[in-house]
Amino acid sequence: MLKTILTRMSRLFSVPGDNPDLLKAQFEVFSSQVPLMYSIVLINAWALALNFMDVAPAWISLHLPAGFTLVCGLRLMGWWRARHIVPTAAAARQALTQTNLFALLLTTTLTAWALALYPYGDAQMQANIAFFIGISGLGVIICLQQLPSAALIAAVVINVIFVMYFSLAGVAAFAGMAVNLLLVSVALLLVVSVQFRHFSGAVSARRKLEAVSRENFRLANLDSLTGLPNRRQFFSHLDETFAAANGRRLAVGIIDLDGFKPVNDLYGHKVGDGLLVEVGRRLSALMHANVHIARLGGDEFALTVADCPEDADLLTFGERICTALRKPFVLPEATVQLSGSIGFAVFPELADSAQELYERADYALYQGKRSNRGHAVLFSGSHVVEIEQEKRIEQALSHADLDREIVVFFQPIVDIQNGRTVAFEALARWTSPVLGPVPPGQFIPVAERIGLIGQLTRVLLRKALATAADWPEDVVLSFNLSTHDVSSSDGAVAIVGIILASGIDPKRLDFEITETAMMYDFVQAKAAIDMLKALGCGIALDDFGTGYSSLSQLHALPLTKIKIDRSFVTDLDKNPASFKIVKSLLALSSDMGLRCVTEGVETEEELATLRKLGGQFVQGYLLSRPIAEDQVAGFLQSAAAEAAGNGHRASA
Ligand code: C2E
Ligand code: CA
Ligand code: CA
Repeated sequence: MLKTILTRMSRLFSVPGDNPDLLKAQFEVFSSQVPLMYSIVLINAWALALNFMDVAPAWISLHLPAGFTLVCGLRLMGWWRARHIVPTAAAARQALTQTNLFALLLTTTLTAWALALYPYGDAQMQANIAFFIGISGLGVIICLQQLPSAALIAAVVINVIFVMYFSLAGVAAFAGMAVNLLLVSVALLLVVSVQFRHFSGAVSARRKLEAVSRENFRLANLDSLTGLPNRRQFFSHLDETFAAANGRRLAVGIIDLDGFKPVNDLYGHKVGDGLLVEVGRRLSALMHANVHIARLGGDEFALTVADCPEDADLLTFGERICTALRKPFVLPEATVQLSGSIGFAVFPELADSAQELYERADYALYQGKRSNRGHAVLFSGSHVVEIEQEKRIEQALSHADLDREIVVFFQPIVDIQNGRTVAFEALARWTSPVLGPVPPGQFIPVAERIGLIGQLTRVLLRKALATAADWPEDVVLSFNLSTHDVSSSDGAVAIVGIILASGIDPKRLDFEITETAMMYDFVQAKAAIDMLKALGCGIALDDFGTGYSSLSQLHALPLTKIKIDRSFVTDLDKNPASFKIVKSLLALSSDMGLRCVTEGVETEEELATLRKLGGQFVQGYLLSRPIAEDQVAGFLQSAAAEAAGNGHRASA
């Protein structure tokens, strides 16, 4: 019993060490109040000392206050020096415990000193002493409110000495003051304890708030699906690493999955998500200290390589990533196989800002996906040449006489079940007087970028329709539209105008659009496409499998046909992944009641495989390259002759 009381008592007079945050906060607030406390004490002490200067010996009215001033000044200096230091909890506790001790010493000595002056003064001066002790004591308690143990120590010391001394002094007025001081001290201690409870509550609330905002910051920089850093984190990390690179080699790599979208469309988002999580895992497994990986969004990932190795080693690292991504993904719902391409750019050789590093890695990726899918590509000097070529194309195109310089070629689309040519796809050909022949894969993107595509499309469509007017009634013209043609209502209206003016039955016209065209502004693109469909034209989804839109979005379109992208047809007979994808896409189109054209058939083996899979409509160099308008009639004639002679490979 006595023991518990004693422990409780000792706890009241000591600094608890169980809450490190509270200790630090106490230290911080208290250190800012120390000057105030010492000022109160010293000013009051000197005021009292002056009062007694003439009557009391110098050692008590001058030397002792000077001593206090020195000691307090030293303490104050110590606190002042520590004001910007964030102490550890242990150091804070030690300092606060010392303060407890110092509070005991200071209040004892000061009170004793003040009472030592008592015999030298008259009644008024003695009252001044009582006043000094009371006021200074209360001031000290208030200043110590963030350290209740020290406040309690000060209160006990002052009151005990004061009450004892003045009760013995036998002056009724002083005894009254003693009781008064005692009561006020108790009240003040209660206020201090309530205040302190609020204070510690505020400290723990602040700690929780900090924890929450740290967690929010972490989440805001994290991709919720894969747990990898997200796009925002990637770019801020890139900026930081770039700033710290200091001339040392730094690489940015951008990874894009090939064939992710069809998987997502065919098997659903759940499988797609599972796949991305696994991709994230495989990528993380290949990372090391200098490599930072993030998911930029969709099926796009990016990485930075600090202190980047030689180009050859970087590419080897990139190929390791591609190899990891080529391994089959065994998911609960399905086993899927795809590939990933990666584009790299390296600072300082071929990029001199973080932005340029990213853009050039992206450019390398884009080029890689076109020519070397599933592998690592490094942005190189030849890419710089290409970019310059694009600039030249831009120059030449913006000054071109489109009507004269641009012509249309036609590539047949054949029904391999009966050998009949069902359509021709119109393909733009440009011979610039400055640059010579420029392939459409180069000048169409430039025309889109510089806002010339609308005009170009109108010229091409007029020419193509004029040619198609001479074809047999059952041969369709398939015409490519670009993003910009369908993303403005003006563009669509102009197209309708040209069709109507041509006099050709809109049923003989198919428009090919890509998924990327739909991505730009789906609602506007759908409105434009609905308008063309309402006119009677067919709508084909071009380059199927390479875009980004989801199958649900495609469902919303009035499609009549899909065109399987050439990339899935190359090596169809040898590559099991392509085989599976083409097979699924053929099944999908038949389920959706859509015709399906397979593009880019170049070899007999590919054709045979396609025939085995039940493919019907085929386009590709094997059957014919794109031909000039005056060759179309000849092509149709010889094809008809071949079919009639039963010699055509289509019926073989
Ligand atoms: P696309 O719409 O996918 O057109 C098919 C491309 O594949 C054509 O390239 C064609 O020549 C080529 N091709 C056809 N069969 C084979 C084959 O067996 N093997 C290989 N390697 N290639 C084959 P082209 O004419 O160079 O056109 C490239 C792209 O330029 C087109 O791709 C299309 O996106 C765009 N383009 C062409 N003409 C026009 C046009 O009039 N308007 C618009 N907006 N874009 C056009
Ligand atoms: Ca096309
Ligand atoms: Ca195509």
